[in-house]
Amino acid sequence: METRMRFAPSPTGALHIGGGHTALFNWLWTRHTGGKFVLRVEDTDRERSTQEYEETIMSGMRWLGLDWDEGPDVGGEYGPYRQSQRLELYRQCADRLVSEGQAYQEGDAVVFKVFPGVELSFDDVVYGRVETMSDGLKDRRESGELKDIVLIKSDGMPTYNYAVVVDDHFMEITHVIRGEDHISNTPKQLLLYKAFGWQPPFFAHLPMILGKDKKKLSKRHGATSVYEFRDMGYMSDSVFNFLALLGWSAGEDKEIFSREEAARLFELSRVTRKAAVFDPNKLNFINQEHLKRMPPMARLALIKPFWEETGLPVKEHGDEYLAAALTLMGGRGQTAKELSAFSDYYVSFEPVKARWNASEVPEELRVGLREFFLGLLAEPEWVADKLEARARAWVEKKGVKMKDYAMTLRLALTGMKVSPGVFDVAALLGRDEARRRLEFYKLV
Ligand code: GLU
Repeated sequence: METRMRFAPSPTGALHIGGGHTALFNWLWTRHTGGKFVLRVEDTDRERSTQEYEETIMSGMRWLGLDWDEGPDVGGEYGPYRQSQRLELYRQCADRLVSEGQAYQEGDAVVFKVFPGVELSFDDVVYGRVETMSDGLKDRRESGELKDIVLIKSDGMPTYNYAVVVDDHFMEITHVIRGEDHISNTPKQLLLYKAFGWQPPFFAHLPMILGKDKKKLSKRHGATSVYEFRDMGYMSDSVFNFLALLGWSAGEDKEIFSREEAARLFELSRVTRKAAVFDPNKLNFINQEHLKRMPPMARLALIKPFWEETGLPVKEHGDEYLAAALTLMGGRGQTAKELSAFSDYYVSFEPVKARWNASEVPEELRVGLREFFLGLLAEPEWVADKLEARARAWVEKKGVKMKDYAMTLRLALTGMKVSPGVFDVAALLGRDEARRRLEFYKLV
């Protein structure tokens, strides 16, 4: 049996963390099972749905690397893939229920008659057995009678619970993977499957995502749309990796993986129902791990715009040099933003001047420093180990501590107390640039 999954967003806003998470789990299960992934746009709320939001959601999915096999843009055998283009089908199916006496007209609306005593239990792949009867459906009327289910509203639009059943059936969806807030809708949908005599799909509801304060994730917790993470300098690989770990684990403490690895390891039955906590520190950690593993030129392409944004003269340098600088930075920085800020001194001397003014250098040290720096600048071979060997020989001869001298050199070159090995930094900056910086501070 070929598996078929769908992500069914309403185009009434950007792609949020919750939506991205749902789309991602559908994608994982699709790629794990070798099935098809359908993008269906649930745009029946004509007032709030826009073409723009539809595009934003699609580009958010693309950014996360979640490609789909069928959808409004790529088409497919089960289209159209926008609910607003399927009104005829909803009408026909509703007519069928009316002609069978299972539904009735109420003005321009079509309403499904709910009877008590209908068994609506199901085995959720994640949540396990959910026991319900039609008697237990919410919205009982004041009279104590069961409230019937509106299928088509008087404006001609189908309701969510109705359209979703018709579409999942005709699109031959095998697994409905969605947020746990839809568990309560499932019995209603099962009732409609029963009425039509259709086989329902498997249901797998995903755990809720909470903020660190254990409250449902919302704007209060900071960034919520997938794009905000991109703009803050998180990589798509990391956000993907992070979202995959919300409610699922690859086992064996494997936390860092690619999309392909995740798809191979993914098991729907291993998704937990325990609410998942969105921990920004965890995202930072994961992002740092991916950042470390990036090839130099890819890292450069990621960091450049962040340098440019802060006005650094990126174009004055060659890519080889800038990529080498980032390689030298090693695993420093958890996000592109951080890494770009930590490495600004390779691009320009200006931020160094803004951070450090040499006023703290003790007068009595200046003579020694001068000798030390002049010695370094005289090194014929401007490479890190030669510089370091020369520095060591000098401090040993003088019987002074390397720390004081190396730290002043570091501050003069980077304006920071922490950096990669200072002789590596000096070597990469080049003799002329190192001299220029030391001269500016009147250290030579
Ligand atoms: N359009 C619905 C939503 O965005 C889809 C729910 C479902 O997957 O059934 O919540």
